[in-house]
Amino acid sequence: MLSERTQRIKPSATLAIDAKAKSMKAQGIDVLNFGLGEPDFDTPEHVKEAAIKAIKDGFTKYTAVGGIDELKDAIIRKLSVDNNIAYAKEEVIVSCGAKHSLYNIAQALFNPGDEIIIPAPYWVSYPDQALLNDAVPVFIPTDEAENFMLRPDEFESKITGRTKALILNSPSNPTGSSYDEKALVAIAEIAVRRNIFVISDEIYEKLVYDGTRHISIASFGGEIKKRTIVVNGLSKSHAMTGWRIGYAAGPKDIIKAMTGIQSQSTSNPTSIAQKAAVAALTGPQDYTSVMRAEFDRRRKTLVDGLNAIEGVSCLKPSGAFYAFPNVSRFYGRSVGARRIDSSLDMATYLLEEAHVALVHGEAFGDDRYIRISYATSMDIIEQGLDRIKEALSKLK
Ligand SMILES: *Cc1c(COP(=O)(O)O)cnc(C)c1O
Repeated sequence: MLSERTQRIKPSATLAIDAKAKSMKAQGIDVLNFGLGEPDFDTPEHVKEAAIKAIKDGFTKYTAVGGIDELKDAIIRKLSVDNNIAYAKEEVIVSCGAKHSLYNIAQALFNPGDEIIIPAPYWVSYPDQALLNDAVPVFIPTDEAENFMLRPDEFESKITGRTKALILNSPSNPTGSSYDEKALVAIAEIAVRRNIFVISDEIYEKLVYDGTRHISIASFGGEIKKRTIVVNGLSKSHAMTGWRIGYAAGPKDIIKAMTGIQSQSTSNPTSIAQKAAVAALTGPQDYTSVMRAEFDRRRKTLVDGLNAIEGVSCLKPSGAFYAFPNVSRFYGRSVGARRIDSSLDMATYLLEEAHVALVHGEAFGDDRYIRISYATSMDIIEQGLDRIKEALSKLK
């Protein structure tokens, strides 16, 4: 009865864990939730005020499908100032979240059988969005020892006559690592020479630590820019996940196709949220720095705490708000009748026995790891570390 495409995908694993943790909580169980993929900060006050003003002013009707000019101008300015890339209005589209921008790109670019290169670990939605659009995800595993960056030679070796695009995510969800300029230049050179599109998801660009500088691959000149679609949004930078504003910038024929698709599916993103996004992009940016400083503090506590646990190793992430520890040394060990053989076993064990919710690495394409979000309070992080340590010590 249902369409074939619905059989190809699974619901977002991160949202599923979150739902399970919330339902345990509703039963009165004291669950510590590290499954979250959103900042635990409130949306800045001036952004909320802008939305309230929009409602009061009656800015509550349909807008242009691809976003209001005022917001596109703010995005263009941001891309120029922060990323050193110049775009015109026809090269920008505002969507209902960055996830929606990514989906529109898949709809606009992918043909049946097209191969989409996705370095693993990857964000959960990339493969499923490709599958929903009849394309074939081609995974390339990356190494912790290489900071989880795609190796240019491996990228090139996976390119076939059917390769359409590469999806890059820096800083990365789930690993928290960022690409350096050298790696990006090498990847850009291959993408240009082999004529491959690059879909560059830069949603965590504002959340970088230890002096890391975010670089957009589209900033390396006209040749790579015309093959790149930059995706970004307000969800992570301005704690605006519920407002659903994301955007994409790229070649005007692709943006035009995406706008056409949007016009037949969702129409414009919410008018009020667009006004809020203008305030977020043009107003004071100190809010993001405050958020970043707090994430940085938690990152250190969490990563140091994880590395202090016997058997756990965790790379220090340079961006986003996730730690991605390797827990595979516990595989094959047991407690009572429970044996841990995979990241899902581990996540289930920690949820059921330690009441700690986190996401199994297998959902992100690497079964050796688990993902722990530190978009939660320091107090919860400290308690969580104690619980994880105790639960792991029972595995023999
Ligand atoms: C959160 C997230 C998104 C989606 O953000 P929205 O703008 O809320 O849709 C996209 N990519 C990655 C890697 C994310 O973690």
